[in-house]
Amino acid sequence: MNQDSVVIKKISDEIFMNGTAYSNLKYLCKQVGQRLSGSAGAALAVEQTARMLREAGADTVYLQPCMVPQWVRGAKEIGTASLNNGKSMPLNIVALGMSVGTPANGITAAVVEVKNFAELDAMGPDQVKGKIVFYNFRMDPRHINTFRAYGEAGVYRSQGPSRAAALGAIGVIVRTLSPVIDDHPHTGATRYDENQPKIPAVAISTSGAEELSKAIAAKMVKQVYLKTNCKQLEDVLSYNVVGELKGSEFPDEIITVGGHLDSWDLAEGAHDDGTGCVQSIEVLRSLKAIGGRPKRTVRAVMFMNEENGLRGGNKYAEIAKMEGKKFIMALESDAGGFTPRGFGFTANSLQKEKLLSWKPLFVPYGALEFNEGGGGADIGPLRGLGTALIGLNPDSQRYMDLHHATTDVFEAVSERELNLGTVVMTAMVYLVAQYGL
Ligand SMILES: [Zn+2]
Repeated sequence: MNQDSVVIKKISDEIFMNGTAYSNLKYLCKQVGQRLSGSAGAALAVEQTARMLREAGADTVYLQPCMVPQWVRGAKEIGTASLNNGKSMPLNIVALGMSVGTPANGITAAVVEVKNFAELDAMGPDQVKGKIVFYNFRMDPRHINTFRAYGEAGVYRSQGPSRAAALGAIGVIVRTLSPVIDDHPHTGATRYDENQPKIPAVAISTSGAEELSKAIAAKMVKQVYLKTNCKQLEDVLSYNVVGELKGSEFPDEIITVGGHLDSWDLAEGAHDDGTGCVQSIEVLRSLKAIGGRPKRTVRAVMFMNEENGLRGGNKYAEIAKMEGKKFIMALESDAGGFTPRGFGFTANSLQKEKLLSWKPLFVPYGALEFNEGGGGADIGPLRGLGTALIGLNPDSQRYMDLHHATTDVFEAVSERELNLGTVVMTAMVYLVAQYGL
């Protein structure tokens, strides 16, 4: 234990003195920019993170081909509410990812506001048919973990369009999933039910949602006009990027550490999930830099297409199943580059016992919460191989403010917070590489 705390301090010193995660993140955000699956940005990100992995000292760097969906936003969306006093109110909207676009002339219809699905169902087809449904569900600020509030509100983004279409609605406006009131609409994937008509769906900024709601309550809104230009193109070839440090004693026992390389198109995808990618590269670099070689193989993986398809995560697990190696642990960082609070574990009881025994080693770094449940979307498909899944849990207070919005930029990331997160990730990878799991 004492020996381990010395090694972990060495890892920490290396990362804080010579770390490259922050400069790599700057490159990814400023030189590459948005990285939506199938875009030129995503292709450049594949190339550049492969370079970063080589520079980090990976023994081998390779690409795993996978087909990805290609959804494109097109020209800026337009939304307007026409009011009874003859004026019109602009609506601050963005199309939801994977949404169909409106016809060329847009759609114009009366709008009905609901707070939740219960209110929608109570209205029934009589009040919904031919209209635009406005879901105004506010994220519950009472949840201390903002991911919980996000999960509750997220169903309106994912299922809202099809639930409204089932009652005859022709379009949907969803209140942005953010706990703060501001003018930045957040995108994110919606999921159509194949049995319902696909209707255009947009997110409105939280301040816009409040304003629209007030106007509706005052019976001021005559009609709403929406025009979006998004469409789904043919799937295209893309890649996961993998960098490997071969284990010195148990090379066939694989530890995966990763984040997702794709991002939404509205911003630089700094916290979501540029940070997870550059942290994973830094895990490899710092392990190599402190000398020696991990006993077990460490793979840093940049997963493609987490946001709108999970094709990369599924492909990685599909290939893993054929490799005939032991995928003992996978760690994902996809909750922002903020100060680490701890980890969430999805593992069997023996694995959990071992992981918990290491908790004291993380105390000096403030990663104190070792919680049941967790992992990450991209590593989830590995569960079928008995892999222990671990999610890095950073402080969640500010993440949802900028998640999937134009505000998720490099400047929103703190170098020290990013590095501290990398320290605890590397410490966890080091311990599993040393002792197995
Ligand atoms: Zn993400």
